[in-house]
Amino acid sequence: MPNPTLLILPGDGIGPEVMAEVRKIITWMGDKRDLAFDVSEDLVGGCAYDKHGVPLHDDTMARAQEVDAVLLGAVGGPKYDDLDFSVKPERGLLRLRKEMDLFSNLRPAQCFDALADFSSLKKDVVAGLDIVIVRELTSGVYFGEPRGIFKEGNERVGINTQRYTESEIARVARSAFELARKRGNKVCSMEKANVMESGQLWRDVVTEIHAAEYSDVELSHMYADAGAMQLCRWPKQFDVIVTDNLFGDMLSDMAAMLTGSLGMLPSASLGVPMDNGRPKALYEPVHGSAPDIAGQGKANPIACILSFAMALRYSFDRGDEAERVEQAVETVLADGLRTADLLGEEGVTPVSTSEMGDAIVAALDASL
Ligand code: NAD
Repeated sequence: MPNPTLLILPGDGIGPEVMAEVRKIITWMGDKRDLAFDVSEDLVGGCAYDKHGVPLHDDTMARAQEVDAVLLGAVGGPKYDDLDFSVKPERGLLRLRKEMDLFSNLRPAQCFDALADFSSLKKDVVAGLDIVIVRELTSGVYFGEPRGIFKEGNERVGINTQRYTESEIARVARSAFELARKRGNKVCSMEKANVMESGQLWRDVVTEIHAAEYSDVELSHMYADAGAMQLCRWPKQFDVIVTDNLFGDMLSDMAAMLTGSLGMLPSASLGVPMDNGRPKALYEPVHGSAPDIAGQGKANPIACILSFAMALRYSFDRGDEAERVEQAVETVLADGLRTADLLGEEGVTPVSTSEMGDAIVAALDASL
């Protein structure tokens, strides 16, 4: 069997710094777990613009379509703020998501015990939290037509259209049910079926898919506003939440921050299965390029390392090794290691990006 293929796109700012630490974990998997990857690297974002005049070269796009998984650092930075919208660094990322048709965005909210004090909620509300929000990423109100600002009589009117087809709802629902089967076997679907027809259709289609294909998974429905309340009140009641693009945008940010720092949050965006059965996939930390700390060795590499753990689980079916990485992160945090973004306790000296990466590798070694 040929090695699985990975395309690494470190990007801008702290992207290359955190990705260097992920590379240590990838190498470790090859050396110690007989899980070698064929890794290639390319440019995305501002650095691609500097070299090619576009934030994503066509050749890079073509390679992204061919590999088993893409791992991205972050894009953007003040140097590129005045560029035309069409060549801004973020356009490179949007092109990847769109052309790979990554319709299912997985955003875990997992609270490591050692960081439970970091949450703005009470410790017992978040300790042990482990949920995933599945957000539909390629349709809904961010894409629906008509859209625009129009003149109506003597005033302007802004219009966006929430639009979902049955098949768009069905495929993201399946993605959530499949995910739930690998976890706690529970899905809560969130919409506003009480006031929106698209929400009514969402609820109907999720219910139909469930009855026909996933009746072994526990399904519940919640209005998205009530869901937001429940996420703050008792987030541990959930396992997998599936929701549309707009509600998912808000609910996933909210759920993620239940657990503390931006430097800890991974994500996965999945598309339709390729010929080898693996879904098209892009893994990336939720954070941006953090220009304020770039080049100083202060970045927390954990979000990017946990994104690679998601790749192990969802692209390569190695949940065992994903758990090993997550456990190694838990171990170094329990040992008191903190990058600067995680400081809170007095008397703790922060470790650098590479010291954090090395400590995680050492914890992996200790796990054998
Ligand atoms: P940001 O996520 O880059 O930074 C927000 C704050 O969090 C900063 O104070 C930063 O230092 C801190 N931070 C972020 N990641 C961290 C990490 N791993 N370790 C320690 N601290 C971390 O968001 P921003 O400042 O709004 O945006 C900066 C640039 O990144 C902009 O150009 C923006 O467009 C871009 N951006 C890119 C992505 C992406 O690539 N997916 C996402 C968001 C923002």
